Amino acid sequence: MSGVLIVGGGPAAHRLAERLVRHGHGGGITVIGAEPRAPYHRALLGSVLDGSLGSERLALPALPGPVRLLTGVRVTGVDRALRTVRTADGRELPYDTLVLATGARARVPAVPGLTDRHGRLAEGVRLLRAAADCRPLSEGPVVVVGGGTRGVEAALALRRAGHEVVLAHPAAHPMDRHLDAAGGAVVAQWLAERGVTLRLGRRATEYAPGKVVLDDGEVLAAGTVLVCAGTVPNTRLARAAGLPVGDGVLVDARLRTADPHVHAIGDCAEQDGTPGATVLGAWEQADTLARILTGEDTVHRAGRHALRPRLPGRDLVVLPPGRDGAEGDRTVTLRDPARGRYARLVLREGRIRHGVVAGSARAVAAVTLLHARDAPVPADLLALLTGADGTYTGGGEPPEDTLVCHCNNVTRKTLKDAWHGGARDAAALAAATRATTGCGSCGPVVRELCAALGRPADPAEGGTR
Ligand SMILES: Cc1cc2nc3c(=O)[nH]c(=O)nc-3n(C[C@H](O)[C@H](O)[C@H](O)COP(=O)(O)OP(=O)(O)OC[C@H]3O[C@@H](n4cnc5c(N)ncnc54)[C@H](O)[C@@H]3O)c2cc1C
Repeated sequence: MSGVLIVGGGPAAHRLAERLVRHGHGGGITVIGAEPRAPYHRALLGSVLDGSLGSERLALPALPGPVRLLTGVRVTGVDRALRTVRTADGRELPYDTLVLATGARARVPAVPGLTDRHGRLAEGVRLLRAAADCRPLSEGPVVVVGGGTRGVEAALALRRAGHEVVLAHPAAHPMDRHLDAAGGAVVAQWLAERGVTLRLGRRATEYAPGKVVLDDGEVLAAGTVLVCAGTVPNTRLARAAGLPVGDGVLVDARLRTADPHVHAIGDCAEQDGTPGATVLGAWEQADTLARILTGEDTVHRAGRHALRPRLPGRDLVVLPPGRDGAEGDRTVTLRDPARGRYARLVLREGRIRHGVVAGSARAVAAVTLLHARDAPVPADLLALLTGADGTYTGGGEPPEDTLVCHCNNVTRKTLKDAWHGGARDAAALAAATRATTGCGSCGPVVRELCAALGRPADPAEGGTR
């Protein structure tokens, strides 16, 4: 079988290499990553930022023996005619199949002062894209520029780490790409309750070490500016090699570029007009491509994934968007600002098409489950949206088949079985089931479950755990 060369040492590359081995790929497999360390969970960087996870704990499982991993090596060019890649350290490596898994980089907005004339970040300016970005911050307040999902998560992580935080966001409410005004107001309320100072509807217009100037002239003191302004797919290699590029590297349903010997997956790839942006999407593409490269005749269809931002102590799910306002759609809304709750579901033929639920852990769990199963909603929607409907949360406890780790498809039952099999803490459960090793948002639930299983059973309750 032919040699596969994977450029990029992120989760997509890691998963593809691991799955190629699992599917019995007979040829050589090489992964070349520019970062100095082996593949790690980029999505867990917020936990390093807040100090709850040591950077060394981000590591993905070691790749199996047959995989050759080169770290700290940047690929600088692709010669499609010769089927070789060039590296910054002067090597030329051949391939039969090349897979671009070069991911994305943080977008730096064109705010004067953020970068020098060579495009290097100015003193005091940080991104949150790589483990190297998580070194200790300077003294003084942190100004987070950008209040999308990553900016909101980062602002809360920095507050947990004890920093004074100001979040400046150009839209009228945070997470405006995913939430309507009422949902965004709930998130703004949560941020304010956690001590994040908000500057909404305000744009940073200038930076100089120690200060950020906003578009209304306000000057914010800033020991550090953390830029969370979205990402840009890394397409330079593909473009230079003459491959078609939109926002990402364009691929077909077999994750193939215009060159049948070159594929692209993960955050750098664009399929059906949408560039990748989630670890789950990257892993699904890697799974499909591994099957294709080991001879299966299949195509990739992107899954529908719920967004579960990491907002410890607060529950929020955004269910993937569908078409609003189609004939027969019914919209149900619950607003309870006093208790920080909001829900808006769009239903079609009694099933959830898309929506958002914020503020009730039980309602988030129930609605996510119904959506994942494409099951009919109950008649009492108010009970569902307030989390009072025990049918879907199993009364006091969610049902056994509730997905805890959406990234790795791990249910409560799998976790319980692993616990009874000897995995008695969160790290052991992660090793046994892979729960928490995707986006990491299920970490608190896994730790809670672990603690609950470890507590002596109350004989009055009866039953088993
Ligand atoms: C703070 C943060 C939180 C996140 N939270 C979530 C979340 O909760 N849920 C979720 O689904 N997703 C989340 N994501 C997004 C998720 O991390 C990405 O979707 C995922 O990392 C994509 O994997 P990838 O392998 O395609 O790309 P990347 O992780 O970007 O990895 C690409 C790798 O390729 C390397 N590379 C690039 N060019 C070259 C080259 N020329 N030569 C060699 N190597 C190269 C890069 O250095 C990098 O190591 C988060 C991301 C961040 C930054």
